[in-house]
Amino acid sequence: MSPWLYQLVHKRQISALHDNAKTDVAIIGAGIAGVMTAYFTLKNTDKKVILVEANKVAHGATGHNAGQLIAEFERELHDLATEFGVADAVAAEQAFNSAWITIEQVFQEANLTTPYSTFTGYKGYQSIERLMDELKNNAIRQQVDEKTYPIFIADNAKGIDHIPLSYKTLYSVIPHADILDLLETDNKSFVAALSIRKGCINGALLCEEIVGYLLATYPQRFTLAEHTPIKELILDSHDAELIGHEYTIKADRVVLCTNGFSKFVITNKAGDDINSLFHHLLRGNIGFMAGYVEELNHQPTALAYYYERSRKSRHQHPKDEYFDDPYFYLTRRPYEIEKNQKHNLVCVGGPEKLIDDSSVYDPVAGFDEKATKEIDAFLKSTYRHTPKDNFEFKFQWHGLMGYTPNGVRLIGPEPLNPVLLYNLGCNGVGILPSIFGATRIPRFLKHEEVEPMIFDPKRCDGGLCH
Ligand SMILES: Cc1cc2nc3c(=O)[nH]c(=O)nc-3n(C[C@H](O)[C@H](O)[C@H](O)COP(=O)(O)OP(=O)(O)OC[C@H]3O[C@@H](n4cnc5c(N)ncnc54)[C@H](O)[C@@H]3O)c2cc1C
Repeated sequence: MSPWLYQLVHKRQISALHDNAKTDVAIIGAGIAGVMTAYFTLKNTDKKVILVEANKVAHGATGHNAGQLIAEFERELHDLATEFGVADAVAAEQAFNSAWITIEQVFQEANLTTPYSTFTGYKGYQSIERLMDELKNNAIRQQVDEKTYPIFIADNAKGIDHIPLSYKTLYSVIPHADILDLLETDNKSFVAALSIRKGCINGALLCEEIVGYLLATYPQRFTLAEHTPIKELILDSHDAELIGHEYTIKADRVVLCTNGFSKFVITNKAGDDINSLFHHLLRGNIGFMAGYVEELNHQPTALAYYYERSRKSRHQHPKDEYFDDPYFYLTRRPYEIEKNQKHNLVCVGGPEKLIDDSSVYDPVAGFDEKATKEIDAFLKSTYRHTPKDNFEFKFQWHGLMGYTPNGVRLIGPEPLNPVLLYNLGCNGVGILPSIFGATRIPRFLKHEEVEPMIFDPKRCDGGLCH
């Protein structure tokens, strides 16, 4: 079990449908994307919302992630700039960053108490070659007068003299020992670090608390339908029908927040086939994680360690393989195992497995021994504060993420039938991007003029693209 679901104490009854229903907006999927989309649809429109969930709130990827807040793509910014242009790529990064303010506002408005911390985190690199992507990203930010991210390079780093002169203002040179301290490692192979705003949150607890708030605040406009898997979605020109096992829901608009792994059929009565196109849209990636508890003896942090041969981006990688050179990411935060018993929880992720057919993923399958060994070896070789004596992982878990073919989230109406909208495609980093997506969806629902962004679903040669 993940530490996030371990902490979920259900104060409320499971909320299921007892009859057919009718609504303005049906949102399918009650993970962070669906819950936040419900939040902003209720807040920013006068529409009635049904949030439909096959299982229980936040039991998908949201209950099985690393619980780390970071506003980034799993694609390099310079790479996005090549595909979409500098201005649009930077606007997309800024959009994800805007979710930092959004989440603070949600905490204030809804009076939330879910523990949440934010701080400066670090990413570590073993070579200048690998760091070069970050320097290029900074150069892109500089082109549009956007703030660059602080980058530090060890004074003794191999290859430092080969960094192009034009990048000189994009980094600082500091003693190697300081790099190791920033990264909390004694592994001297790390020679550079980038600092970036990060945070820690239990996303499942957050969703549960927000759902409680929505049920209490909008009793006339909000319905939660858990244990309601949708098997077919029938789209007409002005509305849609969601076919569940027992009941059907009629809705004027439908927002898919399913992370992509929806075992349902989409029938588009108002135009070209969407079903087959949708299912080619997302691939699955299983992420494995482990966590241990220790004394509350260090501040919260989030660190990532990139090895010299970094893994390729997901959409380039051959299927059904472990990444042979994964990076590892670590978070440390206060955590209550039992009420009022505060410890630090240290979580590590890294090992991943790509699958083309997400229906083969078994959410209750046991942990993978190879992944445990990899995480254990990482901790021993790299994290300075790994307990010296034998220690046990209190938690081991895995979760499934949806990847779009080009690694960019889809937010907005389906071009073949705008009755259907998307806020999905976690592409590895999904909490803040989901929240940004959730603020954009109500604008489409209200038929506002929405400025174009790289997240807009488009059709090219029949397939979905950006
Ligand atoms: C191991 C791992 C580590 C990660 N670490 C991070 C991290 O540190 N930071 C970060 O930002 N992101 C991280 N992510 C990604 C992040 O967890 C996801 O992007 C985010 O939780 C996705 O939220 P979601 O709401 O889109 O999907 P989910 O939480 O998966 O929710 C989708 C919901 O849709 C429901 N559903 C699907 N089909 C149907 C249907 N037919 N009918 C009804 N309901 C349906 C599912 O039951 C599910 O509850 C990680 C993911 C994993 C797996």
